[in-house]
Amino acid sequence: MLTKVIEQSKIDHFTKWFDRADKIVIVSHVGPDGDAIGSSLGLWHFFSSQGKTANVIVPNAFPDFLKWMPGSKDILLYDRYKEFADKLIAEADVICCLDFNAIHRIDAMGDAVLASPARKILIDHHLHPEDFCKIIISHPEISSTSELVFRLICRMGYFSDISREGAECIYTGMMTDTGGFTYNSNNREIYFIISELLSKGIDKDEIYRRVFNTYSESRLRLMGYVLSQMKVYPDYHAALISLTKAEQSQFDYVRGDSEGFVNIPLSIKGVIFSCFLREDTEKPMIKISLRSVGTFPCNQLAAEFFGGGGHLNASGGEFYGTMDEARKVFEQALEKYKPLLNAKG
Ligand code: 5GP
Ligand code: MN
Repeated sequence: MLTKVIEQSKIDHFTKWFDRADKIVIVSHVGPDGDAIGSSLGLWHFFSSQGKTANVIVPNAFPDFLKWMPGSKDILLYDRYKEFADKLIAEADVICCLDFNAIHRIDAMGDAVLASPARKILIDHHLHPEDFCKIIISHPEISSTSELVFRLICRMGYFSDISREGAECIYTGMMTDTGGFTYNSNNREIYFIISELLSKGIDKDEIYRRVFNTYSESRLRLMGYVLSQMKVYPDYHAALISLTKAEQSQFDYVRGDSEGFVNIPLSIKGVIFSCFLREDTEKPMIKISLRSVGTFPCNQLAAEFFGGGGHLNASGGEFYGTMDEARKVFEQALEKYKPLLNAKG
């Protein structure tokens, strides 16, 4: 049995909306990851099974390794189909905001969502949710939004209506937000849920291969290059990797190719904090990805030095300036956080 994580009043409130709703829109964050797409499609499969007209809209493209997911072909990309998406958002009865805590995380879609008269619900696991939804289901202690979606559907009494396709999407989100159940994954209820998803006929080993083992040769060579340039800071238990636009074109870089790179330096003995700086291809900025193990708060560092945020162990931000300047800022951050980086435990 699962603990009742989501408050009963919120389940009841949403059930009322759901019963009356016909048109439901599901939105998730820019640069959608496995949990954004997994939770959105997991909910989409459920809504569709109940005869609702449901649409998933995300701000921009998602990586190829998520394109096998059932329903992914029906996801609308806001940057390509803005007019149609605006119409769906404006006419929706209910809008479900998944896997983000602040309206700016859905980029240009934010205005349309705020302006829509639809009832809005937030389902998310990031700290400090902004107040733009009537129902806020926010649980930072839960490792993925996909897990929250599973919990919501079950508590509404529809476990039996979860299809194998829906279960595959939910599993994918749970798996990707925990690095294949290697971090934020000690809650034993996760494994109860996996067991329930397996009962729907999912092949978890196949899902792992589809997500993690379908990269291109050039991606692997890029990884080798990036690691050969890595800088380790033994006195700070930290490591830094980076990728400029020039380097990206050298390796036929396509979006998503550097997914997961930031985790690799954490496999060095003694390294508890990893940073990846990547020149963005669309905006004139450097995207910052931070990862830590244990109690080191990379979200705090991201907020303080890179105008970002996120989770304790996985966070990010943006930097407007050159790669050299970004490196300097990172090194300043290391200096400031040296005591924490050297703290035991
Ligand atoms: P990633 O490194 O995978 O891009 O991001 C890891 C996590 O950091 C995300 O799930 C999100 O919570 C957070 N994050 C990434 N970029 C930003 C950002 O620019 N601003 C904020 N507030 N959080 C971010
Ligand atoms: Mn997530």
